[in-house]
Amino acid sequence: MSSQLKLTDITKKFEANTVNEKVALDHLNLTVEPGQFVTVLGSNGSGKSTMFNVILGSLFPDEGKVYLGDKDITKLKDYKRALNIGCLYQNPLRGTAPNLTIEENLALAYTRKASPSFFALNKKDSAYFREVLSTLGMGLEDRMKTKIGLLSGGQRQRVAIGRAIVRNPAVFLMDEPLSNLDAKLRNQMRAEIIKLRQRINTTFVYVTHDQTEAMTLGDRIVIMRDGFIQQIGTPQEVFNHPANLFVAGFIGTPQMNFFDAKLDKDADGYYVELDGARVHLPEEKQQALRANNVEPQDITLGIRPEHIMLCSDDAAAHIS
Ligand code: ADP
Ligand code: MG
Repeated sequence: MSSQLKLTDITKKFEANTVNEKVALDHLNLTVEPGQFVTVLGSNGSGKSTMFNVILGSLFPDEGKVYLGDKDITKLKDYKRALNIGCLYQNPLRGTAPNLTIEENLALAYTRKASPSFFALNKKDSAYFREVLSTLGMGLEDRMKTKIGLLSGGQRQRVAIGRAIVRNPAVFLMDEPLSNLDAKLRNQMRAEIIKLRQRINTTFVYVTHDQTEAMTLGDRIVIMRDGFIQQIGTPQEVFNHPANLFVAGFIGTPQMNFFDAKLDKDADGYYVELDGARVHLPEEKQQALRANNVEPQDITLGIRPEHIMLCSDDAAAHIS
């Protein structure tokens, strides 16, 4: 099962103090198509978790609507939404029951019941859980009777992934699920999430401040800053065609270099002038500028470090 997720004109404010209010999300619009994997990338405080919680239903927006498929779920309580939404949180204990065993945790997700006393596990279910766990590594299938609270962070996140597999939700939300793990485990878990995606047909929203995660996992990346979406695009689009200076500087490590330059034209067409050196633009860019009849002007020229190379001509340059 996989559904479209749509946020329209979502605004969410918090009271920062009695006088000021903080706009955490500012008229945010986002459509995630069924089966798509969208990553939401932004630095601390950009509004990612607020957006996550608005989708989850643990926060209600001040304005705007949330749709799952063609259903308006804006006013639906979180525990009702949870039937169709799978979650992985930064803290692997959140959303799992530490005093219940691995098997019971999977059973809760599988049966969509609130308490293990409401279900009786049969052999077929147990065998299914074993099989799911065996694909997640770390020998969890042999520890079905172990309480979740006794597991390591990496093991718990795997159980949480197992819960999502058996639940088969319409949308799967993840809020920085790997940021509590060490670097090695993080890479392994990233691979697990890619496998999870191949395994369950669902719509993913993955929140992160880590651009490598965002670029490698996402079909599309939503770049956030101060509660605003700066750009939505494929990893290639946001890298090659940043919508603004913020995205240009934010995506790519090391960062893009910026220079004050001039855009002008002569008989051969548009060129960029930097420190007296003229570079005529490729035909594709010429056409776009001609079509919009762009006037000569001061511009910011962005050059990625990997596009700078040493050449044999005695061009003047210095490295600082
Ligand atoms: P992110 O997850 O991108 O780090 P958040 O969505 O948690 O960002 O926060 C966005 C902004 O909203 C921040 O400025 C944060 O301080 C503020 N904020 C978030 N939750 C609350 C809250 N419960 N009360 C007051 N301010 C909040
Ligand atoms: Mg957050």
